[in-house]
Amino acid sequence: DALNQSLSEVKGINVSFEFFPPKTETMEKTLWKSVERLAPLKPKYMSVTYGANSGERDRTHEIVKRIQSETGIAAAPHLTCVDASREELKQIAKDYWASGIRKIVALRGDLPEGYTEHVSYASDLVALLRDVADFDIAVAAYPEKHPEAPNSQFDLLNLKRKAEAGANQAISQFFFDAEVFLRFRDRAAAAGIDMDIVPGILPVTNYQTLQRFAGFTNVHVPNWLHKMYDGIDKDDQTTRNLMGASIAMDMVKVLAKEGIRDFHFYTLNRCELSYAICHMLGVRAD
Ligand code: FAD
Repeated sequence: DALNQSLSEVKGINVSFEFFPPKTETMEKTLWKSVERLAPLKPKYMSVTYGANSGERDRTHEIVKRIQSETGIAAAPHLTCVDASREELKQIAKDYWASGIRKIVALRGDLPEGYTEHVSYASDLVALLRDVADFDIAVAAYPEKHPEAPNSQFDLLNLKRKAEAGANQAISQFFFDAEVFLRFRDRAAAAGIDMDIVPGILPVTNYQTLQRFAGFTNVHVPNWLHKMYDGIDKDDQTTRNLMGASIAMDMVKVLAKEGIRDFHFYTLNRCELSYAICHMLGVRAD
């Protein structure tokens, strides 16, 4: 009750939605249905991922341009630097700027299997983008440490380097324990990182997918969450969606109560859960 009470007093919430380039025609339809459904909520921006080493950067660009022209909402491509030369990256950035893109999510990307040598980090990409034009630049942050970082402090200093290179905002890896994010926010502030760190919210629709994602991202799945799904993990989609909505809503309520005003949703190209959570936060279509 106390949480609902304080939530009803929360004002000025900003949201953003993340999508990925669909692989099939059916998924393509789902994506555009979701974009159409979520656009009236007037998110600050919609972002579109780019699979490093997938060779499909054009797909990201195409979707971003279409979102921007059809909805009028700012769209931000994700851009990875692990698989392109400096010259290529400069050209891509110039093309984005020329086609009206003003925000970029700048990432290193993951190295192909068995490949350990690479020349650059996300902080280098941020600096390169800054040289090309006055982009609004978002970067990734890891409340539970990036899997390759030797320790949390090292990883935090990397985030600081990205801010110093010119990033304006960080989007966090998803997490399932609000405390983990809040402690990270405090540590970042203590380290002198003054850019906004926006929590990345993953509304869970599929327990198996969640476990797989958590596995390769080093994200801790708390015991209570395992227990919550125990016995219904193979149940019908509606039951699992209800559970996912409840989990995400509880977490978002705690974050809002602690002063968080910006939320980034990993929609996985679906709109229902993100829409419901936004509604609960008072983010509504006119
Ligand atoms: P960096 O910030 O460069 O950090 C990578 C690692 O290197 C960290 O462990 C860091 O501590 C370490 N490091 C940094 N500098 C140095 C240094 N000088 N010496 C030694 N170590 C160093 N991937 C995609 O392929 N496409 C996407 O669209 C995409 N979108 C994402 C969106 C968000 C919000 C998040 C959180 C992740 C996303 N990813 C995406 C995944 C991301 O590419 C991977 O997590 C990748 O492994 C790291 O990217 P980064 O930008 O965080 O790298």
